[in-house]
Amino acid sequence: MARSFVREARKRVGPKRERILPIVERLKAEHADARIALRFRSDVELLVSVMLSAQTTDVNVNRVTSTLFEKYHRPEDYLAVPQEELERDIYATGFFRQKAKAIRGTMAMLIAEYDGRVPRRLEELVRLPGVARKTANVVAAELGEPQGIVVDTHVRRLSQRLGLTRQDDPVKIERDLQRIVPRADWGLFPHLLIWHGRRVCIARAPQCPDCVLLDLCPSARV
Ligand code: SF4
Repeated sequence: MARSFVREARKRVGPKRERILPIVERLKAEHADARIALRFRSDVELLVSVMLSAQTTDVNVNRVTSTLFEKYHRPEDYLAVPQEELERDIYATGFFRQKAKAIRGTMAMLIAEYDGRVPRRLEELVRLPGVARKTANVVAAELGEPQGIVVDTHVRRLSQRLGLTRQDDPVKIERDLQRIVPRADWGLFPHLLIWHGRRVCIARAPQCPDCVLLDLCPSARV
């Protein structure tokens, strides 16, 4: 896209600080059902689901956990079987060796340091083996205490298209979003972008004429 065109488009829609509230409100109205797609019944199941979701789809994770969670309930259960057995049980999510090792390491730490419970603070969550910032952010948000903003591929693409960031690195994008998205919406905002990215602002074919953000988006094409 030519630089002058981008500048023109940014001028047309106005500064991001003025656009962010209507963007959030319209997305809330449009995607009232936006929520995490992973299925879980407890904090431990949430943590395991998010750890399994790396490099695969939520649908795939749900398929695996529907039987996995019948067998494994408490952190101790993941350590009561040989690692190879856990690997077999999560095989279909891919990267099963790494994931099994990370889950067992994490469960051991939950038992040793957190009384078998999932901690809420981001700095505690990222200490768990195999739990990176994105996983920690997802878990903290779902536990009702978002301390950051989850940046996945949809959040990155939409934040860039909507002119909310010029960055490409997820950590820098998150910092830009934290400056403008109201704190109360940090947990929901990624889900809104993910839903919008799947339904309307699709990677290869954004449906701009049908988009509720048309007049607020510098990348709009009609
Ligand atoms: S107007 Fe187009 S590019 Fe902008 S958010 Fe909507 S679908 Fe995406």
